[in-house]
Formats: sequence, C-alpha cells, structure tokens
Amino acid sequence: PFDVLIVGGGPAGAAAAVYAARKGIRTGVVAERFGGQVLDTMAIENFISVKETEGPKFAAALEEHVRAYDVDIMNLQRATKLTQGDLIEIELENGAVLKGKTVILSTGARWREINVPGEQEYRGRGVAYCPHCDGPLFKGKAVAVIGGGNSGVEAAIDLAGVVRHVTLIEFGEALRADDVLQRKLRSLPNVDIIVSAQTTEIHGDDKKVNGLSYKDRVSGETKHVDLEGVFIQIGLVPNTEWLKNSPVKLSRHGEIEVDARGQTSVPGVFAAGDVTTVPYKQIIIAAGEGAKSALSAFDHLIRTSAP
Ligand code: FAD
Repeated sequence: PFDVLIVGGGPAGAAAAVYAARKGIRTGVVAERFGGQVLDTMAIENFISVKETEGPKFAAALEEHVRAYDVDIMNLQRATKLTQGDLIEIELENGAVLKGKTVILSTGARWREINVPGEQEYRGRGVAYCPHCDGPLFKGKAVAVIGGGNSGVEAAIDLAGVVRHVTLIEFGEALRADDVLQRKLRSLPNVDIIVSAQTTEIHGDDKKVNGLSYKDRVSGETKHVDLEGVFIQIGLVPNTEWLKNSPVKLSRHGEIEVDARGQTSVPGVFAAGDVTTVPYKQIIIAAGEGAKSALSAFDHLIRTSAP
C-alpha cells in the first residue's frame, strides 16, 4: 500500500505530494486531470513570488516539481469510491483498487455554469468566474455579476472598487445575500441591481464580450446591457459526488469537513484545497492546505504505524 495516497492533482494535491515524498514515504497521486483548474486559467498574477504566469505553464511546473521526487503519478484515472478498512481503499472507474495507510482528498471544485449562449465561447474573453483572480483585468470597464447570493454580492462590492460600473443581476425576486452585504452594496454609487432577471445570452464581437441580454421575468420583455465583462457567481460545486455514500463527512454544501490540520471525520483521511470547508478558493491557499495535509498525514503515520 501507499503510505500517502493523494486523490486529485491540482495545486493542493501537488503540494501534498511534494511534502509527503520529502519525508521519504511511499507516495502516490491519482488524478483525473493532473494540473486541475489551473489548466483552464489564462493569467495567474496572485501566486506570491510569481508575478505573472499562465495556467498551463503553472500546471506544467506543478508536474515537474512532483516528478522531481519519487512519486507514483496515476493520471487520467477517476476515483469512484472510498472505503475504510484496515487500510483506506480507493476504487477507480477502471475497476482497480488502490490502498493507502493514509489518504489525502484534493479533488477540487468547479464553477457552476449558467448554460446560456456565449458563456463557453467567451470564457476567458470577458466571461469570468473569480473576482479575486480576474477583477483587475476589467479596471475602468463596465461589468455584470450574475447571482445575488453572498458570493455574487461580495463579488459586486469587490469589483465596484476596481471597475467603472457593476450591474448585479439576480434571477429571483430579491437578493439572497446577508443584509449587511446588501446594505453595503446599495450604498455604492456605481452599482445597479436588477432582480427577476433571467440572463438569456452573453454577446460579443467574436473576440470579446460586449453585452448581455436578460428576460425581465415580470414583464416578459427582453432587455440588453452593454458591458465588457460578466462574472458568473451562481455557486462553486465541490467534486465530492463520489464521496456521498462514504464515511467522510460532508457539509451541507457538499464540501469535505476538515479541522485545522486537514483531518476529516475518518481517521487517516485528510483533505485539502477547494474541495474542503476551508474558505477562499485560491491556488496559494490550496497549495498551503495541501502541504499541511501531508504533514498531518505523516504525523498520523508515525503515531499509528508499526516501526
Ligand atoms: P483543483 O485545481 O480543482 O484540482 C482538482 C484535481 O482533482 C484535478 O486534478 C482533478 O482532475 C482531480 N479530480 C477531481 N475529481 C476527481 C476524481 N473523482 N478522481 C480523481 N481525480 C479527481 N486561483 C488563483 O489563486 N488565482 C487565479 O488567477 C485563478 N484563476 C482561476 C481561473 C479559472 C478559470 C478557474 C476555474 C479558477 C481559478 N483560480 C485561481 C482558482 C484555482 O484554480 C483553484 O483555487 C485551485 O486550482 C484549487 O486547487 P485544488 O488542488 O484544490 O483543486
């Protein structure tokens, strides 16, 4: 068996692999797509000490760093089941079963999409999902935020300080964010709030976004807003569907519950990165949590394994 078996090969899993391998213990990483979300990222400008890079370049660097150590990388393999016995067993889609004395879950998350025309075409060319990442690209421009929950309203407040104008678009009759956030949002001079609005299309000039259309759900009329960016904030979905029937405890939102050491509800099973209850889904945070989970797994091993 592996001493540490890591499921997920994004920044969290890669950091966990480097930290585990540096302890000289048998380490494996199984990943559906080594690199994770950064493979879909254009510019990365907030990984401290790397002033600017591109997602695929960053992903290649993650892999190069992991491969510098004796780590068994099993790429293009999807985990489908976790069971707890003497060892932790991870079953793969191809039927194989991997065993670990400890397991680190770092399967990440994905942004929920609105599935309207234009969303895929203009992804990274005006359609964005992360205000902390892409907000500064829209300095001086008009943008929309779609979604009036806490994340949408927080994004709109954040962006209002960076861009020229923000239109917040909510499908329901009212915003769903906490009152204190709504009050803050309404106090800002460069924000419009539109409720009962169903976004129907994101428009562009073939190169980048130049507007969006929505249906007014009260009058039925279709309306148009000119803008250069659309931030979609209708939820981040943790990749934990495969853990639903496992003993690993998930939060109401499907995130893996972890303590300050990355320990889950199952002894010997740790978790790190976007898939967990740890707030703020960012590369540097996922990498830090990955390192922490590997140190916790090592600590668990020296306390529980026979010498
Ligand atoms: P992920 O990167 O999601 O990696 C998860 C890994 O698990 C992948 O290897 C995946 O294939 C694998 N996996 C999932 N399910 C399974 C399974 N069942 N079996 C096996 N493997 C599985 N953050 C920043 O800090 N700066 C930015 O500029 C930035 N820009 C972004 C732009 C975009 C378009 C997106 C989508 C995200 C951006 N982020 C940015 C967020 C950042 O990418 C994430 O916070 C970070 O990648 C999380 O790392 P992670 O390792 O937890 O998960």
